[in-house]
Amino acid sequence: MLQVRDAESIIFNLVQPLNQKWDREVVTLLTAIDRILAKPVTSELDFPHWDNSAMDGYAVRYEDVQDCNEQQPKVLEIVEVIAAGVQPQRRIQAGQAARIFTGAVMPEGADTVVMQEVTRREENKVVILAAPKPHAFVRHRASFYEAGTQLLPAGITINPPEIAVLAAAQCREVTVYRRPRVAILSTGNELVKPDELLQPGQIVDSNQYALAALVAQIGSEPLPLGIVQDKPHAVKKAIASAVSIADVVLSSGGVSVGDYDYVDKNLETLGAKIHIRAVGIKPGKPLTVATFTKPNSHQTVLYFGLPGNPVSALVTFWRFVQPALLKLSGLAHSWQPKFIKAQSLHDLHSDGKRESYLWGQLHLVDGYYKFHLANGSPSSGNLINLAQTNGLAVLPVGQTHVAAGEEVQVLQIS
Ligand code: AMP
Ligand code: MG
Repeated sequence: MLQVRDAESIIFNLVQPLNQKWDREVVTLLTAIDRILAKPVTSELDFPHWDNSAMDGYAVRYEDVQDCNEQQPKVLEIVEVIAAGVQPQRRIQAGQAARIFTGAVMPEGADTVVMQEVTRREENKVVILAAPKPHAFVRHRASFYEAGTQLLPAGITINPPEIAVLAAAQCREVTVYRRPRVAILSTGNELVKPDELLQPGQIVDSNQYALAALVAQIGSEPLPLGIVQDKPHAVKKAIASAVSIADVVLSSGGVSVGDYDYVDKNLETLGAKIHIRAVGIKPGKPLTVATFTKPNSHQTVLYFGLPGNPVSALVTFWRFVQPALLKLSGLAHSWQPKFIKAQSLHDLHSDGKRESYLWGQLHLVDGYYKFHLANGSPSSGNLINLAQTNGLAVLPVGQTHVAAGEEVQVLQIS
């Protein structure tokens, strides 16, 4: 049986991040949030743009005030008041100072700011009561960023701090990667839509909704294609049309060894290369991974045949599909699954034969993660206790027990 680690490396090696010219698009700054930068950004502006004051106080020549103290204060003549947003008009000469406010441009001749709190005002004069350090409270031009160098690298997510940087640099548009298109199919004669009357034996196709939500949550574009009956021809047609419109296809169900499991056979008939047919993971063993090479193009479509069990479908999505989609999206770093150490609040059990993922909640308590196993039995048929899951405790092959209070690795999911 293929181990989880080996399956992971096969899958990640199959994924080539979007990097063609047509994989990029230009978006306005306000719509760039959560997108991934596709080109490094440079700016023609220095940051700060000018030498400016970091304090409300007085712009002075350091040499005029370097020796002063409360016993021997220095009196300077105020020759100008410089508010933020205006250009100073005067050059500061020996014995002179300018009243200056935070963010205002430093006047010529001055090299240091004395903060207001160590001065006394006497009409058009200021008494300096303590010697500042040279260049105190001056933010020098280009000390934060030098024009023409790289401001932001490609491959990062644009979050609010990056929006602030881009806005300050007057970048009104940015080039981002397009969102990967992910087709979603559900196979099963027993499935109905949420708004259909349930007949005996039928269940709602929850996977379609769960997978669409998971795909959208990580910034890809879900293409929900609906329910496909367990008929060889219908499955074949649905797979072929999904492959023709998507970068990645997710189907759920029909990958086990049951009489109605037609996915793998059809993948082969349609010319896919099957890389994985099962993985030693619980829940989620029947997992198919295949690739299609589109005719007349080098584009590869990645196919995940996820197990139909709702819990298995979600667990295999989190463990394998999510990082693969994040890598495909163009994220340069941190697309890999995130494991953290937590203290388990419950006894955890596994048969030790497959790597087991037990779902529950991670809580941060006094700076330490605690893992709270979902209520009830962790059965892959039980979708209901999956609600509020934000972590999956991992018991490796060979480990059958984690006692309450012991440490466990947890796959963090958001
Ligand atoms: P399968 O992998 O097709 O054998 O399905 C395994 C179990 O998951 C069966 O009990 C199915 O009824 C259920 N199942 C399959 N597909 C879905 C779906 N899209 N939504 C909810 N449950 C499903
Ligand atoms: Mg089925």
